[in-house]
Amino acid sequence: PPAEAPVVVINAHGLPYLNARKPIKERVADLLTRMTLDEKIGQMTQAERGALAKQSDIATYLLGSLLSGGGSTPAQNTPQAWADMIDAFQLQAQQTRLQVPLIYGVDAVHGHNNVVGATIFPHNVGMGATRDPALVEQQGKITAREVKATGIPWDFAPCLCVSRDDRWGRAYESFGEDPALVTRMATIVDGLQDNGVLATAKHYVGDGGTEYGSSTNGDYTIDQGVTKVSRQELEAIHLPPFVEAVKRGVGTVMPSFSSVDFGDGPLKMHAHAELINNVLKGKLGFKGFVISDWQAIDQIPGDYPSDVRTSINAGLDMIMVPYAYPAFTGTLKAEVEAGRVTMNRVDDAVARILTQKFELGLFEHPYADRSRIGDVGSAAHRAVARTAAAKSQVLLKNEGGLLPLRRDAKVYVAGSNADDIGNQTGGWTITWQGSPGPITPGTTILSAIRSRASSVTYSRDASADLAGHDVGVVVVGETPYAEGQGDVGRAGRTLNLSAADRAAIDKVCGAMKCAVLVVSGRPLLLGDLSNVKAVVASWLPGTEGDGVADPLFGAVPYTGRLPFTWFRSVEQLPINVGDATYDPLFPYGWGLRTDRGRDRLKAARDKLAAGDGLSKAAAAALTLALPDRNWNADGSVRDTRAVLGVLGTAAALLERSKTDPYAVGDAVVSVARDVAQRAGKRPDLQASADHELAAGNLRKAVDLLTQSAR
Ligand code: BGC
Repeated sequence: PPAEAPVVVINAHGLPYLNARKPIKERVADLLTRMTLDEKIGQMTQAERGALAKQSDIATYLLGSLLSGGGSTPAQNTPQAWADMIDAFQLQAQQTRLQVPLIYGVDAVHGHNNVVGATIFPHNVGMGATRDPALVEQQGKITAREVKATGIPWDFAPCLCVSRDDRWGRAYESFGEDPALVTRMATIVDGLQDNGVLATAKHYVGDGGTEYGSSTNGDYTIDQGVTKVSRQELEAIHLPPFVEAVKRGVGTVMPSFSSVDFGDGPLKMHAHAELINNVLKGKLGFKGFVISDWQAIDQIPGDYPSDVRTSINAGLDMIMVPYAYPAFTGTLKAEVEAGRVTMNRVDDAVARILTQKFELGLFEHPYADRSRIGDVGSAAHRAVARTAAAKSQVLLKNEGGLLPLRRDAKVYVAGSNADDIGNQTGGWTITWQGSPGPITPGTTILSAIRSRASSVTYSRDASADLAGHDVGVVVVGETPYAEGQGDVGRAGRTLNLSAADRAAIDKVCGAMKCAVLVVSGRPLLLGDLSNVKAVVASWLPGTEGDGVADPLFGAVPYTGRLPFTWFRSVEQLPINVGDATYDPLFPYGWGLRTDRGRDRLKAARDKLAAGDGLSKAAAAALTLALPDRNWNADGSVRDTRAVLGVLGTAAALLERSKTDPYAVGDAVVSVARDVAQRAGKRPDLQASADHELAAGNLRKAVDLLTQSAR
C-alpha cells in the first residue's frame, strides 16, 4: 500500500470469498450472494479517472473499474506517479463494504505508451511486418511487465482488426490485411496474460472492414464506419483472430464503434446480440467479460435507457461510460427494477467480471509492486523493441544494392521524420493522438545514423549544401494521429506525402544516390521514384531509432515483409491479397532481403536436423539445395529449377512435422520468394503465397511462388 495509506479497513475480513485457497468458482458464487443490486451495477461500471468528481465517488458509486483514456495521466507523468495514483484509487475501493478491488485499464497498445520513459514498440502494422509471432509474444510480455510495474492489471490490447482499406484511420493498429497473419499474431494475448495483465481483443468485429465511402472531405483518418459484408465474409475475414484469441483464453473483448450491415441495414456492434451473445459467448464459448468502447453505447439509436438495456442485453458486461457513472448506474438500476434487464443477466455479467478479478489475484494484491518500477523503459526491454523495429523494416526497392550503407559513407539526411521521436512513435503515445516532438526518451533515426556513420549532414528541408556526399537518406511520412471522425483538427489528411517531404526527396535524390525511409502507419503515395535507388517502409518504429539504423547499416539483414498491399493509386482502394484483379505497386508479402538465401536454408536445415522424423527428412531435402553449383556469387539462386524443387519437397514434409512450421518454414519459403521477387511477375501469386504460409500451407506457398517465377 502507499506510504500515506490512512485507513486499514477490515470490513470483509474472514468472508469465504477472500479465502485464496477456495476455487475461484466458489469465491465468485459466495461474493455474488452477498452483493446488493447497487454493488453489482457498480461492478459493471467503468469511469474515466479524470471524470471522478471526487475520489470518494469510487466508494459512493461502488465503481468496479477505472481507466485512463488516451493521454489521461497523472500530473507528473512518471512510473512512480502512476503507481501512486492507482494505489490511491484502489484504497477507495477498499473502503467499501465488500472490499472488491478495482480493475484499472489503459491502452498500452505498443508498450506502456501513456508513460514517459516507457519502452515503445512499433505499432501493430510494423509488428505484422516482422512476421514473427514469438517476437510479438515477447512484446506482450514486456508491455505487461511495464504495465504491471505501475500497478495496472488490464490492457485494452491487442487490436485484432484486419484492415482492408488503407484509408481507414486506424490501419496502423492492424497487424495486416490477411486474417491468417493477424490470427498468428494473437500470441500477444499470451504475452500479456502469462505475465499478469488481462488482455482485450478489440474491436469486435469488423472494425477494419468499414467502408470509407462516407467521407467526402478527403480525410483519411476516419473510423467508426459501417462494415458491409455477408455473414460468411465476416466469418472468413474478420472473425478468425478473435476465434484464436478466445482459444488462448483472452480475458476481455471490446466491441467496435462500427456497425455491421449484413444487407438488412447497419446495426451498431454494441447492440449486436447475434454477434456478441450468440457468436462470441455462445459459439466461440468466450468466458471472459465484454467491455464497451468509450461512450459507445450512446451511439445506439434511442434514448439512454434504451442504450443501456440494448447493450447489456446484447451481451455487454461492463460499460466504459466513461463520464456518466451517476446516470449509468441509476439507469441500469431502473431497467433492472422494471424487468427490462433480468437479474440473471446482471449476475452473469458480474460473475464474469469477478472471475477475472480473482484470477488476476487482485483480491490478494490490489496494490502496485514497487519493486518492479525499474522495469519501465529498462535497457533489456529497449533491446527487444530495437530488435522489433529492425525486423519490421521492409526493403521495397534496392537498386544496385545501395543498402546496406557503408559506415564510412558521407551521408546527407533530410525529411520530416528523420529527427522526431513523436512522429516515429505515432498515435497513442503520451497523448491520445500523439504529437510531433521530443515527447518521450528514445533515439531518433537521425541520432542512430549519427552514431554509425562517420560523416553526417542533417538538413530537414534539404536546404544545406548537397555537394560532397556519397548517399542521401530522406526520412518522410506521416505525423501522428490515433483515431477520430475528422473532427479533431485533422481533416484533409490524405495518403500523399507532404509537399515538403516530396521536395526533400526531389532535391536530395536529384543530387546523389539516395534511400527513402517511409515512417507511416500505412502505405502512402510516394510519387515518382525513378531517382530513388532504395525505399524502406519503416512504419511507426517506436522509441528505438537504432532498430531502423541496424539493417540500414547492415548490422542485421532486412527481413520484413509487407503486411499491407502497397497500392499504386487511391482509386485502387480497397486492394487486398486474394482480389480477383490485383495490380499493386508492391504485393502483400513483398520484402527484399539483404542476407543470403543459402545461409537461411543452412540455418533452417540445422534446426530441422534436431527435430522429429519429418523434420529430419525436410533437413535432408534442404541439404540437396546447398551445393555451390546452385548459387550465384551474389547469393542469388542460380539453378532455380533444382532449388525450387527441393524447397517444395522440404515444405511438404515440414508442414506435417512437429517443428513450428511457421518459424522454420518462413526461411524455406523466403528463398522461393527471393526468386519470385527477382522475376517480378504475377504479384497476385506472390501475395497469395504469403497468405498460404501464414495459414500453414507451406507447400502451396512454394508452389505459388514457383508458378509466379515462371
Ligand atoms: C478506442 C479504444 C480504446 C478506448 C479507451 C476508444 O476511443 O476506440 O480502442 O481502448 O478508447 O481509451
